[in-house]
Amino acid sequence: MKYIALSVAVVSASLLNIANSAEWRVGLSRVVITPESPTWLSGYGSRDHAAEGKVHDLFAKAVAFEDKSGERLVLVTCDLGSVYQGLTDQVASVTQERWGLGKERLVINVSHTHCAPEIAIERIVFHSLSDAEEAKLQTYIDQQLIPKLIELVGEAIDDLQPSTISVSQSAALFASNRRLPVEEENGKRYINSQHPAGVTDHDVPVMVIRGEDESLRGILFGYACHNTTLAFYQYCGDYAGFAHQYLEESHPGATALFVMGCGGDQNPYPRHGPEGLDHCNRHGRELADAVVHAIESPQTEVHGPLRVAYTDVTLDLESPPSREQLEAQRTGDDTYPDRKARYLQSQLEKHGQIATTQNCPLQAARFGDELLMLFVSGETVVDYARKPKVEFAGPLVWVAGYCNDVFAYLPSYRVLLEGGYEGRTGIVHQLVPTPFATNVEDRVMGGIREVVREVSE
Ligand SMILES: [Zn+2]
Repeated sequence: MKYIALSVAVVSASLLNIANSAEWRVGLSRVVITPESPTWLSGYGSRDHAAEGKVHDLFAKAVAFEDKSGERLVLVTCDLGSVYQGLTDQVASVTQERWGLGKERLVINVSHTHCAPEIAIERIVFHSLSDAEEAKLQTYIDQQLIPKLIELVGEAIDDLQPSTISVSQSAALFASNRRLPVEEENGKRYINSQHPAGVTDHDVPVMVIRGEDESLRGILFGYACHNTTLAFYQYCGDYAGFAHQYLEESHPGATALFVMGCGGDQNPYPRHGPEGLDHCNRHGRELADAVVHAIESPQTEVHGPLRVAYTDVTLDLESPPSREQLEAQRTGDDTYPDRKARYLQSQLEKHGQIATTQNCPLQAARFGDELLMLFVSGETVVDYARKPKVEFAGPLVWVAGYCNDVFAYLPSYRVLLEGGYEGRTGIVHQLVPTPFATNVEDRVMGGIREVVREVSE
């Protein structure tokens, strides 16, 4: 009797395994993207020279998902400060041609580390690079980064093998809101400083990919916080780079991929200063511990089918300045307002007008009933994670920001009205001509609803 019961259990377990292994094929790949020679570094406009070395290598990693019917999605995560539409389009046009992976099946997410080569095109107008430094960066982008990203996608596809996917979630607390309200004579103002009582998203969503033999192949984890613990001249993935390192050391053979969340208005604290690297290590350890906690907690197995959707939303901008206003802004002192006015004048000369809209790519991927991933462009503020998590609750809702085109801060209606750096003033060193119009959140949420509907039908 005992023997029969055991046989039944063995048979059903192996049937289950066959069913599971047929449900997903997943591929993983990685490549070092640290430049071969020192380049200008991303982020801070105050930089005045190129990199001086590295703490650790910068990586791009990819995970390719394929469901039973052959539907695919490839997510590329990069230790980079930014990514722009032209680069994403260049990669997607080749992946479309080679593997049928167009932009609706490809996501490029960047960690927004400020210790990576500066690939944002804003640098050309707003940073103080010499022609020689600019040439080095362009060569890096054209001859190293783009070819490597294309090969990385191919390697993830070549690596597709039967796997199981499961998800769970924990939390880490080192991110804090960085929009501090201060009362002044003429009203409230938001300054860029830690605001512990402000809105945050401390969730750490985690996806675990296991092979047929149950071995841990991949760990995908997210967090909504600027990778700006460090402000020095060495290549480093910041806290996300350390979290990768800790997770891969403690799980040999697994590839760890950090997915940047909607951390546009979130900073890691403490940060900067002579102990910056110690702070960074600690944040990385806290995030890695949160990931391990999620892996060791009960997880939900993710089933197919995989459904993907993509849309380009047009965001309205405030009216552009007139020729006279631009002339008045040309103070000649080479400050950001002066450079911005000069740039907009050049746009007027070239195109006869200044753009009044900005394109905002949005994507969704639904994994059966268990997981809904949203991929939002821009330096996405935290409201764009919190709202969809409430509105589409049911599956685990995982919202990534900083995807495909980091064109400027993407404020919510609240942040736009409050003003401050992410709402209005940050636009002074972006190529986007003017702050967003007040319908920005309606447009973004409208686009998100559209892609969610498409993957949920
Ligand atoms: Zn930023």
